[in-house]
Amino acid sequence: MTSQQATEPEPDETDHESALETARRQLREAATHVDVDPGVIERLRHPTRVVEVSVPLERDDGNVEVFTGYRAQHDDVRGPYKGGLRYHPDVTAQECVGLSMWMTWKCAVMDLPFGGGKGGIVVNPKDLSTGEKERLTRRFAEEIRDEVGPKRDIPAPDMGTDAKTMAWFMDAYSMQQGETTPGVVTGKPPVVGGSYGREEAPGRSVAIVAREAIDYYDKDIGETTVAVQGYGSVGANAARLLQDWGAKVVAVSDVNGGVYDTDGLDTHAIPSHDEQPEGVMGQDAPNTVTNEELLELDVDVLIPAAIGNVITMDNAGRIDADIVVEGANGPTTSGADRILDERDVPVIPDILANAGGVTVSYFEWLQDINRRKWSEERVNSELESEMLSAWEDVRAEVEAGDVSWRDAAYVVALNRIGKAKEARGLWP
Ligand code: GLU
Repeated sequence: MTSQQATEPEPDETDHESALETARRQLREAATHVDVDPGVIERLRHPTRVVEVSVPLERDDGNVEVFTGYRAQHDDVRGPYKGGLRYHPDVTAQECVGLSMWMTWKCAVMDLPFGGGKGGIVVNPKDLSTGEKERLTRRFAEEIRDEVGPKRDIPAPDMGTDAKTMAWFMDAYSMQQGETTPGVVTGKPPVVGGSYGREEAPGRSVAIVAREAIDYYDKDIGETTVAVQGYGSVGANAARLLQDWGAKVVAVSDVNGGVYDTDGLDTHAIPSHDEQPEGVMGQDAPNTVTNEELLELDVDVLIPAAIGNVITMDNAGRIDADIVVEGANGPTTSGADRILDERDVPVIPDILANAGGVTVSYFEWLQDINRRKWSEERVNSELESEMLSAWEDVRAEVEAGDVSWRDAAYVVALNRIGKAKEARGLWP
């Protein structure tokens, strides 16, 4: 990233903002609600660094192709950089910076001792064989080895990467360091230092936060209808838990579209993306819906848990849900956010709702450093209490400041970051 890109002003409100523009706009809006030094806000508009590397790969046919990888490190005032690695054709330096800013707020809203990072490789993982994915990951780990480490920057899974990817990354790093270093990444398989419950954690936190929101808005979970867009790890785990807690999950979808049953679906019988990719439409249900139609269903709770920018200025006026709980990172554009706010549709933001992922990553890192495994029961019960405490902090801010849930979450995060910056001071 050039310094010019890093200082670009926010454009006028539009649906076509980059993640960085959205993150900066949200920071600017939240800054109006906090008593934090403007110099701190200015520093937070910029990442500490963005590393760009070339990652050569010998394809299975013997040809060599070179991919571009990034690691953006936004801020580490509260602890090491933390955040996922994304393998996706649309990855850019700017997107990594925007997503790394969200990680800074997410860790702060959860009061975890981490800052924000995010990285990735510009590649379509569907075009890679397992062997190619492994070689690409190992070489990427080597190229960014100086930037990462258990006390420096700790990557994790994100779109297009998973526990297996993290095991390869950890192995490549450890081989070069000369010692097994499980704490360099989180989201690993439990057999090599991963945490029980990490895989389900983002979906679990979405469900916990949805349950609290349902209660906050005086609804009975037993009479609540839910629609979930995206049936990967986040969507499927959230849907199943909410069903277990009594909610009626009436619609779920994957990339091909969704199934819809006003009597409620059996979400346990519908295979998640990990169990059977793109298996949703193969399920028996009275109705099917497109992904666009699912977002506009008349339900109590809508959970967009697929990709970013799906609730836009175009469809925000037609969202018929009473509450939106963001499972994906950045599913609502800034313009849509404003429209939903004007329509009094509360949006529980991603940095709170899906923060279970990074929270259990923190538990995993603690387990790795202490060489002591926690039971799944302990992970889930500590996750529950961390989520409830963050929910309470944000709720208190909603009530005290008469602000949206997103602004309230930012206020909680920015106050913590601002206080840490003030206490540490600026190196002159
Ligand atoms: N990629 C996940 C997120 O966006 C998890 C990050 C982590 O566990 O470090 O929150």
